[in-house]
Amino acid sequence: MAAESADLVILGGGSGGYACALRASQLGKSVILIDRDKLGGTCLHRGCIPTKALLHAAEVADSARESEAFGVRATLDGIDMPKVNAYRDQVVGRLYKGLQGLVKSRNVHMVEGTGRLVGPNAVQVGDTIYTGTTVVLATGSYARTLPGLEIGGRIMTSDQALELDYVPKSVIVLGGGVIGVEFASIWRSFGAEVTVVEALPHLVPNEDEACSKALERAFRKRGITLSLGVRFASATQNADGVQVGLEDGTTLQADLLLVAVGRGPSTAGMGFDEQGITMDRGWVLVDDRLRTNLPNVYAVGDITPGLQLAHRGFQQGIFVAEEIAGLNPEVIPDINIPRVTYCEPEVASVGLTEAQAREQYGEAVTVYEYNLGGNGKSQILATTGFIKLVQRTDGPVVGVHMVGSRVGEQIGEAQLIVNWEANPQDVASLIHAHPTQNEAMGEAHLALAGKPLHAHA
Ligand SMILES: Cc1cc2nc3c(=O)[nH]c(=O)nc-3n(C[C@H](O)[C@H](O)[C@H](O)COP(=O)(O)OP(=O)(O)OC[C@H]3O[C@@H](n4cnc5c(N)ncnc54)[C@H](O)[C@@H]3O)c2cc1C
Repeated sequence: MAAESADLVILGGGSGGYACALRASQLGKSVILIDRDKLGGTCLHRGCIPTKALLHAAEVADSARESEAFGVRATLDGIDMPKVNAYRDQVVGRLYKGLQGLVKSRNVHMVEGTGRLVGPNAVQVGDTIYTGTTVVLATGSYARTLPGLEIGGRIMTSDQALELDYVPKSVIVLGGGVIGVEFASIWRSFGAEVTVVEALPHLVPNEDEACSKALERAFRKRGITLSLGVRFASATQNADGVQVGLEDGTTLQADLLLVAVGRGPSTAGMGFDEQGITMDRGWVLVDDRLRTNLPNVYAVGDITPGLQLAHRGFQQGIFVAEEIAGLNPEVIPDINIPRVTYCEPEVASVGLTEAQAREQYGEAVTVYEYNLGGNGKSQILATTGFIKLVQRTDGPVVGVHMVGSRVGEQIGEAQLIVNWEANPQDVASLIHAHPTQNEAMGEAHLALAGKPLHAHA
Protein backbone atom coordinates (compact mmCIF):
# COMPACT_ATOMS: atom_id res chain seq x y z
CA MET A 1 0.00 0.00 0.00
CA ALA A 2 1.43 3.38 -1.04
CA ALA A 3 1.18 6.36 1.27
CA GLU A 4 1.14 10.13 0.84
CA SER A 5 0.48 12.92 3.27
CA ALA A 6 -0.38 16.60 3.32
CA ASP A 7 -1.59 19.28 5.71
CA LEU A 8 -5.07 18.80 4.30
CA VAL A 9 -6.82 15.87 2.66
CA ILE A 10 -10.15 16.85 1.16
CA LEU A 11 -12.63 14.20 0.06
CA GLY A 12 -14.83 15.67 -2.70
CA GLY A 13 -13.97 18.36 -5.23
CA GLY A 14 -17.33 20.16 -5.47
CA SER A 15 -18.08 23.72 -4.33
CA GLY A 16 -17.17 23.04 -0.69
CA GLY A 17 -14.13 20.87 -1.31
CA TYR A 18 -12.44 22.88 -4.02
CA ALA A 19 -13.05 26.23 -2.27
CA CYS A 20 -11.37 24.77 0.82
CA ALA A 21 -8.45 23.51 -1.32
CA LEU A 22 -7.91 26.88 -3.04
CA ARG A 23 -8.04 28.91 0.18
CA ALA A 24 -5.85 26.47 2.11
CA SER A 25 -3.17 26.52 -0.56
CA GLN A 26 -3.34 30.33 -0.58
CA LEU A 27 -2.59 30.14 3.14
CA GLY A 28 0.48 28.00 2.51
CA LYS A 29 -0.94 24.56 3.26
CA SER A 30 -0.21 21.46 1.21
CA VAL A 31 -3.45 19.99 -0.12
CA ILE A 32 -4.60 16.67 -1.57
CA LEU A 33 -8.03 16.94 -3.22
CA ILE A 34 -9.79 13.67 -4.09
CA ASP A 35 -12.72 13.32 -6.47
CA ARG A 36 -14.20 10.31 -8.24
CA ASP A 37 -15.80 12.42 -10.93
CA LYS A 38 -15.21 15.87 -12.36
CA LEU A 39 -13.69 18.73 -10.38
CA GLY A 40 -16.47 21.25 -9.73
CA GLY A 41 -19.04 18.71 -8.55
CA THR A 42 -22.80 19.03 -8.78
CA CYS A 43 -22.88 22.81 -9.10
CA LEU A 44 -20.71 23.03 -12.19
CA HIS A 45 -21.71 19.83 -13.99
CA ARG A 46 -25.27 18.92 -12.92
CA GLY A 47 -26.61 21.86 -10.93
CA CYS A 48 -26.31 25.63 -10.78
CA ILE A 49 -24.48 26.37 -14.00
CA PRO A 50 -26.16 24.05 -16.53
CA THR A 51 -29.64 24.88 -15.22
CA LYS A 52 -28.96 28.61 -15.35
CA ALA A 53 -27.77 28.27 -18.96
CA LEU A 54 -31.07 26.54 -19.79
CA LEU A 55 -32.96 29.28 -17.96
CA HIS A 56 -31.18 31.89 -20.03
CA ALA A 57 -32.18 30.07 -23.22
CA ALA A 58 -35.72 29.98 -21.78
CA GLU A 59 -35.61 33.76 -21.29
CA VAL A 60 -34.49 34.21 -24.90
CA ALA A 61 -37.45 32.06 -26.00
CA ASP A 62 -39.84 34.13 -23.89
CA SER A 63 -38.40 37.35 -25.32
CA ALA A 64 -39.00 36.10 -28.87
CA ARG A 65 -42.51 34.94 -28.01
CA GLU A 66 -43.41 38.23 -26.34
CA SER A 67 -41.51 40.50 -28.74
CA GLU A 68 -44.68 41.86 -30.32
CA ALA A 69 -45.58 43.63 -27.07
CA PHE A 70 -42.38 45.68 -27.45
CA GLY A 71 -42.94 46.47 -31.09
CA VAL A 72 -40.36 44.01 -32.32
CA ARG A 73 -41.43 41.59 -35.04
CA ALA A 74 -39.90 38.20 -34.30
CA THR A 75 -41.26 34.69 -34.32
CA LEU A 76 -40.33 31.74 -32.22
CA ASP A 77 -39.92 28.82 -34.60
CA GLY A 78 -39.03 26.29 -31.97
CA ILE A 79 -36.40 25.07 -29.58
CA ASP A 80 -33.42 23.19 -30.98
CA MET A 81 -32.56 21.29 -27.83
CA PRO A 82 -29.25 19.80 -29.05
CA LYS A 83 -28.11 23.37 -29.81
CA VAL A 84 -29.33 24.63 -26.45
CA ASN A 85 -27.37 21.80 -24.83
CA ALA A 86 -24.29 22.64 -26.89
CA TYR A 87 -24.46 26.25 -25.69
CA ARG A 88 -24.86 25.02 -22.11
CA ASP A 89 -21.96 22.57 -22.45
CA GLN A 90 -19.76 25.32 -23.84
CA VAL A 91 -20.44 27.45 -20.76
CA VAL A 92 -19.76 24.52 -18.42
CA GLY A 93 -16.68 23.50 -20.43
CA ARG A 94 -15.07 26.92 -20.22
CA LEU A 95 -15.65 27.17 -16.47
CA TYR A 96 -14.39 23.61 -15.97
CA LYS A 97 -11.21 24.33 -17.84
CA GLY A 98 -10.69 27.53 -15.87
CA LEU A 99 -11.22 25.72 -12.58
CA GLN A 100 -8.81 22.94 -13.51
CA GLY A 101 -6.18 25.55 -14.37
CA LEU A 102 -6.79 27.40 -11.11
CA VAL A 103 -6.42 24.29 -8.97
CA LYS A 104 -3.24 23.33 -10.83
CA SER A 105 -1.78 26.82 -10.50
CA ARG A 106 -2.29 26.69 -6.72
CA ASN A 107 -0.34 23.42 -6.49
CA VAL A 108 -3.28 21.42 -5.21
CA HIS A 109 -2.57 17.71 -5.70
CA MET A 110 -5.66 16.31 -7.46
CA VAL A 111 -6.32 12.61 -7.04
CA GLU A 112 -8.90 10.91 -9.26
CA GLY A 113 -10.77 8.04 -7.67
CA THR A 114 -13.25 6.97 -5.06
CA GLY A 115 -12.09 7.68 -1.54
CA ARG A 116 -13.02 5.99 1.70
CA LEU A 117 -12.25 7.12 5.22
CA VAL A 118 -10.13 4.31 6.67
CA GLY A 119 -8.73 6.02 9.74
CA PRO A 120 -9.55 9.18 11.68
CA ASN A 121 -7.20 11.13 9.41
CA ALA A 122 -6.70 8.79 6.46
CA VAL A 123 -8.50 8.34 3.15
CA GLN A 124 -7.85 5.38 0.90
CA VAL A 125 -8.10 5.60 -2.89
CA GLY A 126 -7.20 2.38 -4.69
CA ASP A 127 -3.90 1.22 -3.28
CA THR A 128 -2.87 4.51 -1.73
CA ILE A 129 -3.54 5.91 1.71
CA TYR A 130 -3.66 9.70 1.93
CA THR A 131 -3.08 11.04 5.41
CA GLY A 132 -3.90 14.60 6.40
CA THR A 133 -3.17 16.61 9.53
CA THR A 134 -6.72 17.76 8.81
CA VAL A 135 -9.35 15.85 6.83
CA VAL A 136 -12.29 17.64 5.23
CA LEU A 137 -15.34 15.65 4.13
CA ALA A 138 -17.13 17.26 1.18
CA THR A 139 -18.86 14.45 -0.70
CA GLY A 140 -22.02 16.40 -1.51
CA SER A 141 -25.52 15.14 -2.23
CA TYR A 142 -27.63 13.11 -4.62
CA ALA A 143 -31.19 13.46 -5.97
CA ARG A 144 -33.59 11.58 -3.76
CA THR A 145 -36.75 9.80 -4.77
CA LEU A 146 -39.78 8.52 -2.82
CA PRO A 147 -40.27 4.96 -1.59
CA GLY A 148 -41.62 2.84 -4.44
CA LEU A 149 -40.88 5.46 -7.07
CA GLU A 150 -38.13 4.07 -9.22
CA ILE A 151 -36.05 6.36 -11.42
CA GLY A 152 -35.75 5.17 -15.01
CA GLY A 153 -37.29 5.69 -18.45
CA ARG A 154 -39.84 8.50 -18.32
CA ILE A 155 -39.35 8.99 -14.57
CA MET A 156 -36.27 11.05 -13.91
CA THR A 157 -34.40 13.35 -11.57
CA SER A 158 -32.62 16.57 -12.52
CA ASP A 159 -29.57 14.50 -13.54
CA GLN A 160 -31.42 12.83 -16.43
CA ALA A 161 -33.57 15.88 -17.18
CA LEU A 162 -30.40 17.81 -17.98
CA GLU A 163 -29.46 15.16 -20.54
CA LEU A 164 -32.69 15.38 -22.57
CA ASP A 165 -32.14 16.25 -26.22
CA TYR A 166 -35.78 17.15 -26.87
CA VAL A 167 -38.47 19.25 -25.26
CA PRO A 168 -41.21 17.05 -23.82
CA LYS A 169 -44.78 17.96 -24.81
CA SER A 170 -45.96 17.56 -21.26
CA VAL A 171 -44.28 17.13 -17.88
CA ILE A 172 -45.34 16.50 -14.32
CA VAL A 173 -42.93 17.96 -11.80
CA LEU A 174 -43.12 16.28 -8.42
CA GLY A 175 -41.92 18.81 -5.86
CA GLY A 176 -42.40 22.56 -5.83
CA GLY A 177 -39.06 23.41 -4.24
CA VAL A 178 -36.19 25.26 -5.91
CA ILE A 179 -35.20 22.55 -8.37
CA GLY A 180 -38.80 21.67 -9.28
CA VAL A 181 -39.85 25.24 -10.04
CA GLU A 182 -36.69 25.88 -12.05
CA PHE A 183 -37.39 22.99 -14.39
CA ALA A 184 -41.11 23.83 -14.53
CA SER A 185 -40.17 27.34 -15.62
CA ILE A 186 -37.65 26.18 -18.24
CA TRP A 187 -39.97 23.62 -19.81
CA ARG A 188 -42.91 26.03 -19.86
CA SER A 189 -40.80 28.64 -21.65
CA PHE A 190 -39.77 25.94 -24.13
CA GLY A 191 -43.46 25.24 -24.84
CA ALA A 192 -44.29 22.20 -22.69
CA GLU A 193 -47.51 21.70 -20.73
CA VAL A 194 -46.35 21.61 -17.12
CA THR A 195 -48.03 20.49 -13.91
CA VAL A 196 -46.31 20.93 -10.55
CA VAL A 197 -47.41 18.65 -7.71
CA GLU A 198 -46.44 19.78 -4.21
CA ALA A 199 -47.54 18.07 -1.00
CA LEU A 200 -47.27 21.26 1.06
CA PRO A 201 -49.79 24.08 0.54
CA HIS A 202 -47.34 26.32 -1.34
CA LEU A 203 -44.56 26.40 -3.91
CA VAL A 204 -41.07 27.17 -2.51
CA PRO A 205 -42.47 26.44 0.96
CA ASN A 206 -39.38 27.65 2.79
CA GLU A 207 -39.87 31.18 1.51
CA ASP A 208 -41.98 33.97 2.98
CA GLU A 209 -45.58 33.06 2.19
CA ALA A 210 -46.07 36.30 0.27
CA CYS A 211 -43.34 35.23 -2.17
CA SER A 212 -44.78 31.74 -2.55
CA LYS A 213 -48.22 33.14 -3.32
CA ALA A 214 -46.85 35.65 -5.82
CA LEU A 215 -44.91 32.92 -7.59
CA GLU A 216 -48.00 30.73 -7.72
CA ARG A 217 -50.01 33.58 -9.32
CA ALA A 218 -47.25 34.21 -11.85
CA PHE A 219 -46.89 30.52 -12.70
CA ARG A 220 -50.64 30.12 -13.17
CA LYS A 221 -50.63 33.17 -15.43
CA ARG A 222 -47.90 31.50 -17.46
CA GLY A 223 -50.18 28.48 -17.90
CA ILE A 224 -48.41 26.19 -15.44
CA THR A 225 -50.89 23.96 -13.63
CA LEU A 226 -50.38 23.69 -9.88
CA SER A 227 -51.55 20.89 -7.66
CA LEU A 228 -50.77 22.10 -4.16
CA GLY A 229 -51.36 20.43 -0.81
CA VAL A 230 -51.82 17.05 -2.50
CA ARG A 231 -49.59 14.07 -1.96
CA PHE A 232 -48.22 11.76 -4.60
CA ALA A 233 -49.61 8.21 -4.47
CA SER A 234 -48.28 6.22 -7.43
CA ALA A 235 -46.65 6.35 -10.85
CA THR A 236 -46.63 3.93 -13.76
CA GLN A 237 -45.17 4.30 -17.22
CA ASN A 238 -45.67 2.74 -20.62
CA ALA A 239 -44.86 3.54 -24.25
CA ASP A 240 -47.40 6.39 -24.30
CA GLY A 241 -46.33 8.22 -21.19
CA VAL A 242 -46.35 8.30 -17.44
CA GLN A 243 -49.44 8.16 -15.26
CA VAL A 244 -49.27 9.74 -11.83
CA GLY A 245 -51.86 9.06 -9.16
CA LEU A 246 -52.41 11.54 -6.34
CA GLU A 247 -53.84 10.82 -2.90
CA ASP A 248 -56.96 12.86 -3.68
CA GLY A 249 -57.82 10.38 -6.42
CA THR A 250 -56.67 12.51 -9.36
CA THR A 251 -54.69 10.84 -12.13
CA LEU A 252 -52.33 12.92 -14.25
CA GLN A 253 -50.78 11.90 -17.53
CA ALA A 254 -47.68 13.33 -19.22
CA ASP A 255 -44.63 12.46 -21.32
CA LEU A 256 -42.28 12.69 -18.35
CA LEU A 257 -42.24 12.83 -14.58
CA LEU A 258 -39.50 14.87 -12.93
CA VAL A 259 -38.89 13.79 -9.35
CA ALA A 260 -37.62 16.84 -7.47
CA VAL A 261 -38.31 15.90 -3.87
CA GLY A 262 -35.02 16.99 -2.36
CA ARG A 263 -31.43 15.84 -2.09
CA GLY A 264 -29.88 13.44 0.38
CA PRO A 265 -26.31 13.37 1.72
CA SER A 266 -23.81 11.39 -0.32
CA THR A 267 -22.17 9.52 2.54
CA ALA A 268 -23.19 5.85 2.25
CA GLY A 269 -20.37 3.33 2.15
CA MET A 270 -17.62 5.93 2.62
CA GLY A 271 -16.41 4.70 5.99
CA PHE A 272 -17.69 7.67 7.98
CA ASP A 273 -19.83 5.50 10.27
CA GLU A 274 -17.07 2.98 10.83
CA GLN A 275 -14.69 5.71 11.92
CA GLY A 276 -17.22 6.82 14.52
CA ILE A 277 -18.34 10.08 12.94
CA THR A 278 -21.61 11.24 14.46
CA MET A 279 -24.29 11.18 11.77
CA ASP A 280 -28.03 11.60 11.51
CA ARG A 281 -29.81 9.74 8.70
CA GLY A 282 -26.71 10.05 6.55
CA TRP A 283 -25.98 13.71 7.33
CA VAL A 284 -22.63 14.47 8.92
CA LEU A 285 -23.21 16.50 12.06
CA VAL A 286 -20.92 19.45 12.73
CA ASP A 287 -20.72 22.23 15.29
CA ASP A 288 -20.88 25.89 14.31
CA ARG A 289 -17.17 25.79 13.40
CA LEU A 290 -17.84 22.83 11.07
CA ARG A 291 -15.99 20.31 13.26
CA THR A 292 -17.24 16.74 13.35
CA ASN A 293 -16.93 14.84 16.62
CA LEU A 294 -13.51 13.48 15.48
CA PRO A 295 -10.53 15.73 16.13
CA ASN A 296 -9.23 17.45 12.98
CA VAL A 297 -12.04 16.11 10.80
CA TYR A 298 -14.34 18.78 9.34
CA ALA A 299 -17.31 18.57 6.99
CA VAL A 300 -18.58 21.18 4.54
CA GLY A 301 -21.33 21.63 1.96
CA ASP A 302 -24.38 19.52 1.22
CA ILE A 303 -23.43 16.62 3.53
CA THR A 304 -24.04 18.86 6.54
CA PRO A 305 -27.66 19.60 7.48
CA GLY A 306 -28.92 22.98 6.29
CA LEU A 307 -29.29 24.95 3.10
CA GLN A 308 -27.99 23.07 0.07
CA LEU A 309 -26.41 25.92 -1.84
CA ALA A 310 -23.14 26.22 -3.71
CA HIS A 311 -22.21 29.54 -2.10
CA ARG A 312 -22.78 28.04 1.35
CA GLY A 313 -20.33 25.31 0.30
CA PHE A 314 -17.79 27.90 -0.92
CA GLN A 315 -18.08 29.86 2.31
CA GLN A 316 -17.79 26.76 4.49
CA GLY A 317 -14.76 25.54 2.53
CA ILE A 318 -13.04 28.91 2.96
CA PHE A 319 -14.07 28.95 6.62
CA VAL A 320 -12.39 25.61 7.36
CA ALA A 321 -9.19 26.59 5.53
CA GLU A 322 -9.01 29.81 7.56
CA GLU A 323 -9.95 28.08 10.78
CA ILE A 324 -7.11 25.56 10.57
CA ALA A 325 -4.74 28.38 9.61
CA GLY A 326 -5.70 30.07 12.90
CA LEU A 327 -7.47 33.06 11.33
CA ASN A 328 -10.59 32.64 13.49
CA PRO A 329 -13.13 33.34 10.70
CA GLU A 330 -16.60 34.62 11.45
CA VAL A 331 -19.55 32.20 11.55
CA ILE A 332 -22.38 33.13 9.16
CA PRO A 333 -25.69 31.70 10.40
CA ASP A 334 -27.59 29.77 7.72
CA ILE A 335 -30.53 32.16 7.93
CA ASN A 336 -28.33 35.02 6.68
CA ILE A 337 -27.16 33.15 3.59
CA PRO A 338 -28.72 34.63 0.44
CA ARG A 339 -31.20 32.37 -1.38
CA VAL A 340 -32.26 32.74 -4.99
CA THR A 341 -34.82 30.61 -6.78
CA TYR A 342 -34.08 30.97 -10.46
CA CYS A 343 -37.30 30.76 -12.39
CA GLU A 344 -39.51 33.28 -14.17
CA PRO A 345 -40.24 35.31 -12.12
CA GLU A 346 -37.35 34.92 -9.69
CA VAL A 347 -37.65 34.68 -5.93
CA ALA A 348 -34.79 35.96 -3.79
CA SER A 349 -34.47 36.31 -0.06
CA VAL A 350 -32.18 36.60 2.93
CA GLY A 351 -32.85 36.61 6.65
CA LEU A 352 -36.05 35.93 8.54
CA THR A 353 -39.44 35.55 6.89
CA GLU A 354 -42.25 37.57 8.42
CA ALA A 355 -43.54 34.48 10.22
CA GLN A 356 -40.10 33.64 11.62
CA ALA A 357 -39.57 37.24 12.75
CA ARG A 358 -42.95 37.28 14.50
CA GLU A 359 -42.09 34.02 16.22
CA GLN A 360 -38.82 35.52 17.42
CA TYR A 361 -39.81 39.12 18.21
CA GLY A 362 -43.58 38.91 18.72
CA GLU A 363 -45.34 42.21 18.09
CA ALA A 364 -42.09 44.15 17.61
CA VAL A 365 -41.97 43.51 13.87
CA THR A 366 -42.66 46.00 11.07
CA VAL A 367 -43.24 44.86 7.51
CA TYR A 368 -43.21 46.90 4.33
CA GLU A 369 -43.87 45.75 0.78
CA TYR A 370 -42.67 47.93 -2.10
CA ASN A 371 -44.54 47.07 -5.28
CA LEU A 372 -42.40 46.91 -8.43
CA GLY A 373 -45.24 48.75 -10.15
CA GLY A 374 -43.57 51.93 -8.92
CA ASN A 375 -40.15 51.00 -10.28
CA GLY A 376 -39.28 52.37 -13.71
CA LYS A 377 -36.94 49.59 -14.83
CA SER A 378 -39.40 46.89 -13.79
CA GLN A 379 -42.06 48.64 -15.86
CA ILE A 380 -39.66 48.71 -18.81
CA LEU A 381 -39.06 44.98 -18.38
CA ALA A 382 -42.81 44.45 -17.97
CA THR A 383 -42.36 42.55 -14.75
CA THR A 384 -44.46 42.65 -11.62
CA GLY A 385 -43.54 41.73 -8.07
CA PHE A 386 -42.32 43.33 -4.88
CA ILE A 387 -39.58 43.80 -2.35
CA LYS A 388 -40.76 42.98 1.14
CA LEU A 389 -38.76 44.15 4.13
CA VAL A 390 -39.06 42.64 7.58
CA GLN A 391 -37.77 44.98 10.28
CA ARG A 392 -37.39 44.69 14.02
CA THR A 393 -39.53 47.67 14.92
CA ASP A 394 -37.27 50.70 15.35
CA GLY A 395 -34.30 48.43 14.69
CA PRO A 396 -32.48 46.70 11.84
CA VAL A 397 -33.91 45.02 8.76
CA VAL A 398 -33.84 41.29 9.54
CA GLY A 399 -35.31 39.95 6.30
CA VAL A 400 -35.56 40.91 2.63
CA HIS A 401 -37.90 38.96 0.31
CA MET A 402 -38.31 39.65 -3.39
CA VAL A 403 -40.28 38.40 -6.38
CA GLY A 404 -39.97 39.58 -9.98
CA SER A 405 -37.92 39.08 -13.12
CA ARG A 406 -34.20 39.37 -12.38
CA VAL A 407 -34.64 40.19 -8.68
CA GLY A 408 -31.92 37.63 -7.90
CA GLU A 409 -29.48 40.32 -8.98
CA GLN A 410 -30.63 42.43 -6.01
CA ILE A 411 -29.65 39.85 -3.43
CA GLY A 412 -26.12 41.24 -3.05
CA GLU A 413 -27.25 44.45 -1.40
CA ALA A 414 -30.00 42.64 0.50
CA GLN A 415 -27.51 40.31 2.17
CA LEU A 416 -25.25 43.20 3.16
CA ILE A 417 -28.23 44.99 4.72
CA VAL A 418 -29.24 41.95 6.76
CA ASN A 419 -25.73 40.78 7.69
CA TRP A 420 -24.57 44.30 8.59
CA GLU A 421 -27.77 44.79 10.58
CA ALA A 422 -28.57 48.03 8.79
CA ASN A 423 -31.48 50.16 9.92
CA PRO A 424 -33.81 51.46 7.18
CA GLN A 425 -32.38 54.97 7.72
CA ASP A 426 -28.84 53.71 6.97
CA VAL A 427 -29.95 52.41 3.58
CA ALA A 428 -32.33 55.29 2.85
CA SER A 429 -29.49 57.81 3.05
CA LEU A 430 -27.54 55.98 0.32
CA ILE A 431 -28.19 56.53 -3.37
CA HIS A 432 -29.61 53.92 -5.75
CA ALA A 433 -29.05 54.52 -9.45
CA HIS A 434 -31.98 55.47 -11.66
CA PRO A 435 -33.50 53.69 -13.54
CA THR A 436 -32.49 50.31 -12.16
CA GLN A 437 -34.44 47.60 -10.41
CA ASN A 438 -32.03 48.21 -7.55
CA GLU A 439 -33.81 51.51 -7.02
CA ALA A 440 -36.71 49.51 -5.62
CA MET A 441 -34.42 48.43 -2.77
CA GLY A 442 -33.73 52.08 -2.00
CA GLU A 443 -37.40 53.02 -2.28
CA ALA A 444 -38.46 50.24 0.10
CA HIS A 445 -36.01 51.51 2.71
CA LEU A 446 -37.02 55.14 2.12
CA ALA A 447 -40.58 54.13 2.84
CA LEU A 448 -39.66 52.21 5.98
CA ALA A 449 -37.60 55.19 7.13
CA GLY A 450 -40.75 57.28 6.88
CA LYS A 451 -39.91 59.26 3.72
CA PRO A 452 -41.29 57.37 0.71
CA LEU A 453 -40.53 58.93 -2.69
CA HIS A 454 -42.21 56.89 -5.43
CA ALA A 455 -44.58 55.05 -3.12
CA HIS A 456 -47.78 55.79 -1.30
CA ALA A 457 -47.12 56.01 2.42
C1 LIG B 1 -30.38 20.96 -10.55
C2 LIG B 1 -29.64 21.70 -9.47
C3 LIG B 1 -29.56 23.08 -9.51
C4 LIG B 1 -28.87 23.76 -8.52
N1 LIG B 1 -28.83 25.12 -8.60
C5 LIG B 1 -28.18 25.81 -7.64
C6 LIG B 1 -28.06 27.22 -7.73
O1 LIG B 1 -28.53 27.84 -8.67
N2 LIG B 1 -27.40 27.87 -6.75
C7 LIG B 1 -26.86 27.22 -5.69
O2 LIG B 1 -26.27 27.86 -4.82
N3 LIG B 1 -26.93 25.88 -5.58
C8 LIG B 1 -27.57 25.16 -6.53
N4 LIG B 1 -27.61 23.80 -6.46
C9 LIG B 1 -26.99 23.14 -5.29
C10 LIG B 1 -25.48 23.02 -5.44
O3 LIG B 1 -25.18 22.35 -6.64
C11 LIG B 1 -24.90 22.27 -4.25
O4 LIG B 1 -25.30 22.93 -3.06
C12 LIG B 1 -23.39 22.23 -4.27
O5 LIG B 1 -22.93 21.61 -5.45
C13 LIG B 1 -22.88 21.46 -3.04
O6 LIG B 1 -21.50 21.41 -3.06
P1 LIG B 1 -20.73 20.26 -2.30
O7 LIG B 1 -19.27 20.55 -2.45
O8 LIG B 1 -21.27 20.05 -0.97
O9 LIG B 1 -21.09 18.91 -3.10
P2 LIG B 1 -21.00 18.51 -4.63
O10 LIG B 1 -20.97 19.66 -5.53
O11 LIG B 1 -22.05 17.48 -4.83
O12 LIG B 1 -19.56 17.82 -4.75
C14 LIG B 1 -19.26 16.63 -4.12
C15 LIG B 1 -18.11 15.99 -4.87
O13 LIG B 1 -17.66 14.87 -4.13
C16 LIG B 1 -17.33 13.82 -5.01
N5 LIG B 1 -17.42 12.57 -4.26
C17 LIG B 1 -18.49 12.09 -3.59
N6 LIG B 1 -18.16 10.96 -2.96
C18 LIG B 1 -16.86 10.71 -3.24
C19 LIG B 1 -15.97 9.69 -2.86
N7 LIG B 1 -16.30 8.68 -2.03
N8 LIG B 1 -14.71 9.74 -3.34
C20 LIG B 1 -14.32 10.77 -4.16
N9 LIG B 1 -15.13 11.75 -4.53
C21 LIG B 1 -16.40 11.73 -4.06
C22 LIG B 1 -18.35 13.95 -6.14
O14 LIG B 1 -17.87 13.37 -7.34
C23 LIG B 1 -18.51 15.46 -6.26
O15 LIG B 1 -17.64 16.00 -7.24
C24 LIG B 1 -28.26 23.06 -7.46
C25 LIG B 1 -28.31 21.67 -7.42
C26 LIG B 1 -28.98 20.99 -8.43
C27 LIG B 1 -29.01 19.49 -8.38
